[in-house]
Amino acid sequence: MTVPVHFSESKHERIFPEPTSASDVDAQLIHPSAVFIRYNALARTFMSNRPLGDASHASLADFQVGREDAGVVIEKEAGEREGHRMASMAWLGVHSGRPVFVVIEETEREEQDTLLGVRGIFNIMPADEEATIMGHALVVAQFRLCHKFCSKCGSPSSPSLTGAHVACGACKHSQFPPTYPCVIMLVTCKDRAAGTDHALLIERRSLVHTHIAGFIDVVETPISAAVREVKEESGVDISAISGRGVRVLHDLIQPWPFSSSLMIPYHLCCDEIYSAPPATDPCLTEVLGALWLSKSDMALCLKGEGEYHMPGANSVARRMMEMWVAGDL
Ligand SMILES: [Zn+2]
Repeated sequence: MTVPVHFSESKHERIFPEPTSASDVDAQLIHPSAVFIRYNALARTFMSNRPLGDASHASLADFQVGREDAGVVIEKEAGEREGHRMASMAWLGVHSGRPVFVVIEETEREEQDTLLGVRGIFNIMPADEEATIMGHALVVAQFRLCHKFCSKCGSPSSPSLTGAHVACGACKHSQFPPTYPCVIMLVTCKDRAAGTDHALLIERRSLVHTHIAGFIDVVETPISAAVREVKEESGVDISAISGRGVRVLHDLIQPWPFSSSLMIPYHLCCDEIYSAPPATDPCLTEVLGALWLSKSDMALCLKGEGEYHMPGANSVARRMMEMWVAGDL
C-alpha cells in the first residue's frame, strides 16, 4: 500500500451515528470539545487563527474557533423548523470523539487580504485525516453557497437537520453535495532507438506541465473518457490500447475538493506511438501545448531543477510523476 494521497483519509465520516433529531444536533453543538472551523465565502478560504503566510505546516487546530466565535445559537422555541440550527453551518462528522462543524460566513472581514488561499492551505497540510476534514468542509460549504434555491422550482432551499444537504420548502426536492468523476492519465511510451521512457504532458494556462485529465462525460466509461481526453488535448490517438497497457492506479484514487471531483488515475503504456508528436488543437482554451517528456527530465523538474513547473504537492498528478520516476509504477 502506498502512502495515502491528500483527501483520501476519511475515517472521520459516518463512523459516529449521524444526528437524527434536533436534540442530537444540540448535544453535538454544545459538546465540550466540539470543533468549529469557518469558511468565508467572500475570501473563498478558511479563516485561520494565526498568520499562515510564511508557514510551512498547518493543522486543523489552526482553524478552530470557540463556540461563541462560531455564532452557535440554539433555539429552543416550540415549533421551530428543523434545520434552523444549521442555517449557516453543517455537521461534518466526528473526529477523535469530537464533533466537527463548518461555519459558512458571507461577511467581509478586515484580515481577508492577508489570508492564505485554500490551495495554499492544503499545500502545507500533510495528507492526513485533518486535511480530509478540511476538504470535506470546503465541498459542503461550496455546495451550500450554490444551493440556496431549489434547482427544480426555484423556491428557497433549507438545510437538512445536519446541514449536509438541502431540501426545497415548496416541492421537497432534495439536493446533495455532488461528486463528479474525472480521469487523469499518465500516458507513457518508450523511445525504442534511445531506450528511454517518456510521458505525455500538457501545459496548462497556469504554465504548469501536467497529465491530461478531464471529467467523465454522460454515457461514457472511465477508459473511453481517458481515450477521448488524450485525443482532444494532445492529438495522440490511444484508442487501440488494451490489456496490460491499461492500469487503474486504485491506491491513488483521490477525492479533489476544489472541484468536488473524484480523480481516477490511469497508467496507459503506449509503446508504439512515440513517433507521433503531440499536436494540440489550437481551439482548446485550457491547454497551451503538449509534449513527450523523458523520465530523466521529469526527475529534474520534480526537484525544481528542470525546464518546466510541475503540479502541486497535494495533487495525485505529482504523486503519479514521483512514482513513475522512482520506478514504483
Ligand atoms: Zn422546489
